[in-house]
Amino acid sequence: MLQNPEFEQPVYSISMAAHLLSISVHTIRMYEREGLIIPHKKESNQRLYSKADLERIQCIRRSINESKVSINGIKRIYSLIPCWEIVKCSDEDKSKCEAYKGHEQPCWTYQNKSTKCEDLKCRSCDVYYKYSQCSEVKDLIKSISR
Ligand code: SF4
Repeated sequence: MLQNPEFEQPVYSISMAAHLLSISVHTIRMYEREGLIIPHKKESNQRLYSKADLERIQCIRRSINESKVSINGIKRIYSLIPCWEIVKCSDEDKSKCEAYKGHEQPCWTYQNKSTKCEDLKCRSCDVYYKYSQCSEVKDLIKSISR
């Protein structure tokens, strides 16, 4: 669920987002292909990005450039988010969910969802939205293990 509409408002084109982040359009497209980001898509299929998206991309950049985490490493970190707890999956949902069983990629990258996620929008789901920063993922894991 989105909590800060202004922060979440998708207003930047991909070229503007790339300019603001001082990276290439190609890099942003690659992050989307890899499943690290989910841009807002207009009906025309044009991608738009919010300030929250820019922060998420900055976090990804820092992880790659400063912490030397690979793209596959970032996907694994996102895969650790206990989505089944956050969206309250039933045992039946869990038993047929590839994201629940897997540990290599974020839940939102799985296709053919036949669970309750079928009717949810990943971009505005807490699993995607609330844990966009690596530190938030770590805090979440700490809070679960307390
Ligand atoms: S709706 Fe998408 S982001 Fe949310 S738990 Fe399901 S697959 Fe993950």
